[in-house]
Amino acid sequence: MTDRVVEVAVPRPVRRLFDYAVPAGDAVPPVGARVRVPFGRTEVVGVVAGARPESKRRLKTITEVLDPGGFLPADLVELAVWLGRYYHHPLGEVFGTMLPAAARRGEAVRLRRTRCWLPKADGAVQRAPRQAETLRALRAFGGPVPDTEVRHLGIDRRALAALVRKGLVEAVEERPEYRVRPSPFDLNDEQGRAVEVIAGAAGDAGTVVLEGVTGSGKTEVYLRAVAEVVARGGQALVLVPEIGLTPQTLARFRERFGGAAPLHSAAPDAVRLDTWLRCANGDHKVLVGTRSAVFAPFADLRLIVVDEEHDASFKQQEGLRYSARDVAVKRGRILGVPVVLGSATPALQTLENAARGRYGQARLTRRAGQATLPRYRVLDVRGRRLRDGLSDRLLGVLDQHLRAGNQALVFVNRRGFAPTCLCTACGWQARCEWCDARLTLHETPPGLRCHHCGRRYRLPETCPACDAPSLIGLGTGTQRLESALGARFPDLPLYRFDRDTTRGPARFDAQFEVLRRGGPAILVGTQMLAKGHHLPAVTVVAVVDADSGFLSADFRAPERTAQLIVQVAGRAGRAERPGEVWIQTYDPGNPNLRALVEEGYPGFAETETAHRREAGLPPFAAMAVLRAESARAGACEAVLERARAVLRDAFRDEAGAWDVLGPAPAPMAYRSGRLRFQCLVLAGRRPALHAALARLEEAEIQASNVRWSIDVDPYDTF
Ligand code: ADP
Ligand code: ZN
Ligand code: ZN
Repeated sequence: MTDRVVEVAVPRPVRRLFDYAVPAGDAVPPVGARVRVPFGRTEVVGVVAGARPESKRRLKTITEVLDPGGFLPADLVELAVWLGRYYHHPLGEVFGTMLPAAARRGEAVRLRRTRCWLPKADGAVQRAPRQAETLRALRAFGGPVPDTEVRHLGIDRRALAALVRKGLVEAVEERPEYRVRPSPFDLNDEQGRAVEVIAGAAGDAGTVVLEGVTGSGKTEVYLRAVAEVVARGGQALVLVPEIGLTPQTLARFRERFGGAAPLHSAAPDAVRLDTWLRCANGDHKVLVGTRSAVFAPFADLRLIVVDEEHDASFKQQEGLRYSARDVAVKRGRILGVPVVLGSATPALQTLENAARGRYGQARLTRRAGQATLPRYRVLDVRGRRLRDGLSDRLLGVLDQHLRAGNQALVFVNRRGFAPTCLCTACGWQARCEWCDARLTLHETPPGLRCHHCGRRYRLPETCPACDAPSLIGLGTGTQRLESALGARFPDLPLYRFDRDTTRGPARFDAQFEVLRRGGPAILVGTQMLAKGHHLPAVTVVAVVDADSGFLSADFRAPERTAQLIVQVAGRAGRAERPGEVWIQTYDPGNPNLRALVEEGYPGFAETETAHRREAGLPPFAAMAVLRAESARAGACEAVLERARAVLRDAFRDEAGAWDVLGPAPAPMAYRSGRLRFQCLVLAGRRPALHAALARLEEAEIQASNVRWSIDVDPYDTF
């Protein structure tokens, strides 16, 4: 008797699988194949998760087998099952997250040919800045540019057409051709050892933490490890936090291997599917992608690299709330391939895993080449007057560096002009009508904006409460620094980088290109500037406000702030000239800040890890957050009260430590017109947490008008 019944995961928020009969005459579709099945009163596209012998019950029959030859490979099906259990998420919806939208909709999946644009190696355009910018962006790509990438690069179609007419760009049809080119330099001792540790991990399929200070040559280590794989015909997956902001990383991979496929979150669906299929059939040897690329299928994957593994963007914040880093580690285990977690500032969780011997470790303690690490200087501003957030002392330091012909980077993690708009006559503050939040004052274009729901408001000329013409901006954002520094250094070029200024990677990269050529200049920006850019002429970095980060209530805030400071600091002195990092603070005695400045990130990590151990917080406990939101008051609490009761009952026989806190209002309880509450679940033993959450799933708590979710290993808890 052959299997004539399959178990199908349907894209609905239900925990169980559904049985369907295979139509007479059809072969049984393999696990991982997509099928169209009747469900309720509609039809849905599901994924086959198992098969079994004939059922006694009368079953509905599959409408259509979409992939008779299979679709998702076995390792991804296994990964999906793990994801469902670990994140307590319905399997059908896990598959929904994994699949490109076209595949999810049930469209036929087949490869199309891609047209590419190939710029001539030499030749230039005169008096046509758009075309020059376009040509530069195409050349910076490091190989033929697939037409599908044109929009994402911010390339102007008309300029592209003009370049083709002039013969400076040629349309070609390309299959990726990978070949390993030699590295331009020898590895130093530490890099050599790191490559060996990674190669050693291939044997026992381990995870290796590569902790290397900024500019220590981590990328070069990745390139060597990937080269080993590509030279033997295998495939490598490189996960990066963001592709748009750091196109140089991708370009370096392309230069070294003659190709490297990008997969970013903004990629149009057709591109995502095409990239998927070319990874699955082995065309692409190197995939460089953001978070969701961890789900790409491969014919012969032999290495996974997670660059900047500490970065928040690896954690998905809605739906299936997975951490791409942790999924990568799991995928490596399933496939038996090494995983490299690289960072200058590894997550405390990652360092603890290494300390317990779960992960291997390699360190790069020195900068590659000639560069030395920057020196930290704490600038105590207690009792000093700040103008536009800047002390006279800091302005003096910037002046010195700029006068010497160097570049200065001024960092503040707030966009807009000022985070608060206030009436000095009566104390009125501008607040969002839809959120529990103050509005940010913007100067260009002028107005008030809510950074939480995105709503915009007109800036009143007088105070809405007392009618006095006394509205001012309080606090410092990037726009305020831009205008203050512009007034102080009127003759110097000044660039601002934040979410309001960046329009497409082509423009962004063009500005970095200018900066890399050298000459005095000022950069003002948010954490966007912390991301891996190589800016050799920057010799001074100013952190305008370190305090707000360290003082936030989230238990992870010190970790995040330290990482941000070290990453921004890492932009300084990356070439021959040594760099300085000035940190303005009202709290120079802050133990976190002291540890960071005196002992660097490893010292900070040790202090903060000890604190977490004492407090019984991750990585010394497993954590989950239950979040509920509703337009109706009282509804969230009711659902979370029921959830808490189930959890407390499930934990009753647990010998180790556990706690269920809440329900309590979320830090911003009212957001975009909805109320939000949360419960915090902690368990000393991870299996106990998962057992309790499984019981919660089984309870199938539902309430109309309330959306609620489980977030395992949450990134934001406050
Ligand atoms: P990270 O990824 O750690 O920030 P990179 O790999 O970008 O560091 O290296 C920083 C700079 O040092 C780059 O310009 C790179 O080309 C150079 N570099 C890396 N390794 C070496 C080496 N062994 N010898 C000389 N220069 C190197
Ligand atoms: Zn007023
Ligand atoms: Zn709002």
